[in-house]
Amino acid sequence: MRIVLFGPPGSGKGTQAARLIARHGIAHLSTGDMLRAAVAAGTTVGLRAKAIMDRGDLVPDEVVIGVIADRIEEEDARRGFVLDGFPRTVGQAEALATLLAERGIAIDAVIALEVDEEALLGRVEKRARETIAAGREVRADDNPETLKRRLAAFREQSAPVADYYRRQGLLSSIDGMQEIDAVTAEIDRITRQANTDA
Ligand code: AMP
Repeated sequence: MRIVLFGPPGSGKGTQAARLIARHGIAHLSTGDMLRAAVAAGTTVGLRAKAIMDRGDLVPDEVVIGVIADRIEEEDARRGFVLDGFPRTVGQAEALATLLAERGIAIDAVIALEVDEEALLGRVEKRARETIAAGREVRADDNPETLKRRLAAFREQSAPVADYYRRQGLLSSIDGMQEIDAVTAEIDRITRQANTDA
């Protein structure tokens, strides 16, 4: 099972990805997590990405594509994966198609979580409050100003990715404003259907 979870920042991709990996025993490939780990480790990728991420802009395609290409090769990803936060540009989607075709595999479903921008701002503020309450450090890009930039990046650079997959008949859209369990139930229905079609 290979799934792309698609949606703007704060749309619940991380939460739903965690449920998908628990249910299907597949790998969670979050480019945001991988880039944050690279920043923390001070690698070349991390040094390139840090200022861009802090601003809320997109890291260049070649950097994230390189990160994903390496990660897809790892043992746990062979059984399947959930891509969370990738692809975010049509260039990334095309590179992913090539990477997968070279390995004789394909995406089973692309699930888009649709949410209201105003509500996203509230969600990100809530996430920041909860993180502080749990004694953990808040992400540098989880603040209203940066979120606005991340949303603009989504509208301008990432929204066309949905059209790219819609044209291929791979896209299923879900109302991401529903309760978390209701979103999970819809995702389950889509993945069962994708399994039957495969
Ligand atoms: P996320 O945790 O998915 O919200 O990602 C946090 C930040 O990492 C984004 O705002 C971007 O700066 C960067 N990033 C993550 N994934 C990608 C991607 N696929 N393409 C470009 N930049 C990305």
